[in-house]
Amino acid sequence: MSVSRPQDIRLGGCLCGDLRYRASELIDAGYCHCRLCQRSSGSPVLAWVGFPASRFSYTKGEATIFASSDTGRRDFCARCGTQIAFRSSEVPDRIDVNIASLDDPAGVEPEYHIWVESQISWFEIDDDLPRFPDDGPDPALERRPAE
Ligand SMILES: [Zn+2]
Ligand SMILES: [Zn+2]
Repeated sequence: MSVSRPQDIRLGGCLCGDLRYRASELIDAGYCHCRLCQRSSGSPVLAWVGFPASRFSYTKGEATIFASSDTGRRDFCARCGTQIAFRSSEVPDRIDVNIASLDDPAGVEPEYHIWVESQISWFEIDDDLPRFPDDGPDPALERRPAE
C-alpha cells in the first residue's frame, strides 16, 4: 500500500447527486473540441481529466453507459443527464472524467486542446496551450507536444 495523499483524491458527481465518484493519480487534463463531445454535452467544448481506470470508482449509484462510437463509451446519470466519464477501448487503462463534474473543478487545469479542427468558430479560449487538430501526436497515455 502506498502512502495516502489526500490532496491527490478527487471527488465529484452529477447534478442530481445520484452518482458520486472518487479518483486519484491524475495523468493529464485537456479540452476536447470533437463533435462527439459537443453533441453529447450540448456544449461547445468538454474539459477532461485523465486517471488510471483502476483509480476511478463510483461511490454512489450506477452510471448509464452510451456507446458514442465503435471504441468510445460515455457514462451518464440516467436521472439528470450529467455526463461523467469517457472511456476508449483503444486506451483501456485510462478513464477521462468531466472536469466540471468535480467538486473542485478549479483544482485541475487543462494543459492542451485536442480536435480543434472541429472547434466552433465563435468559440475561443484565450490561452497559449498547445493545440492539436486531432487527438494529438501521442494518443496513448501521454500527450506531449513536440518541442
Ligand atoms: Zn444525476
Ligand atoms: Zn471529444
